[in-house]
Amino acid sequence: MSKTIGVDLGGSHVMAAIVEDGVIKDRAEQDIVDHAFDVVVRSVVDVIRSVTGSGKKDGGTAIGLGSPGNVDLASGTIRYSPNFGWHDAPLGAKLRESFDLPVYVGNDARCATLGEHTYGCGRGTANFVLLTLGTGIGGGIIAEGTLLIGNGAGAGEIGHHQVRATDGFYCNCGKIGCFEAQASGTGLLRHAIAVAPSFPRSELVSGKPEKLGSKAIRKAAEAGDVHALAAWNRYIDDLARGLANIIAFVNPEMIALGGGLSSAGDFMLHAVRPKVEELTTMSPRGQTKIVAAELGNDAGAIGAAVMAERGGLTTRERT
Ligand SMILES: [Zn+2]
Repeated sequence: MSKTIGVDLGGSHVMAAIVEDGVIKDRAEQDIVDHAFDVVVRSVVDVIRSVTGSGKKDGGTAIGLGSPGNVDLASGTIRYSPNFGWHDAPLGAKLRESFDLPVYVGNDARCATLGEHTYGCGRGTANFVLLTLGTGIGGGIIAEGTLLIGNGAGAGEIGHHQVRATDGFYCNCGKIGCFEAQASGTGLLRHAIAVAPSFPRSELVSGKPEKLGSKAIRKAAEAGDVHALAAWNRYIDDLARGLANIIAFVNPEMIALGGGLSSAGDFMLHAVRPKVEELTTMSPRGQTKIVAAELGNDAGAIGAAVMAERGGLTTRERT
């Protein structure tokens, strides 16, 4: 495999990496504070230039970039990205103006799925799903060895299927009880707030409210705090609902959980697995491994580099 450049663009951070055979050889990164399109393009160009160097380093043969939002894969235009507030932002065209290399742009979560499937925990699986449990929930589906793109590049938006359509939390997308609203880090925080009135002596809410984050709740649950455990159990119920739905749709060999919350590791996996089994009805039980993802924050850049190497998220957009 030749070296390619993988770029992971997020709402607060951009990282460009030189990747060879799924291994990051060099990286450059920048924080993103201004979401104006031209400013973000400048940061992306900067990090790519600093990682490829000025002829000193062996730069890559193509650029792959994963971005939040829905992407027109043929042009690399971001059709819409709620994270950035962009509509029809011509990211691919701007990068082609700056670099004399092939440029491919795809959704960041689909890129991460491609990375985990090619070089991470999904290696060798034909049917694989990645979920990133962070502030929101991103995802991607590999079906019979191929990343699902869908009609409009919207396949894999697993975060926005509803798991509690009538009694759930409001989702940023406008619906109620989306998987993302219930089972992301933000979802865990909302569960903790929702059950707080039942725990008037809770130490969780007696501190500074800005310190009440999903990590603090998870750690308190692990330590046996009753308020945190009540929130955690609700969280796990909703996570299990979503995972069981995914099994009903895709019947994958493996679902990998990545993103910040997946650092809960066995504490999460041991709690969620039996609930998923219970909720798995028509698909055969015990056929889907639920595991922690392997590549961590590097999955997106590695997957973007795979996209660059292949000439697209799948071979379909070449035709
Ligand atoms: Zn939603």
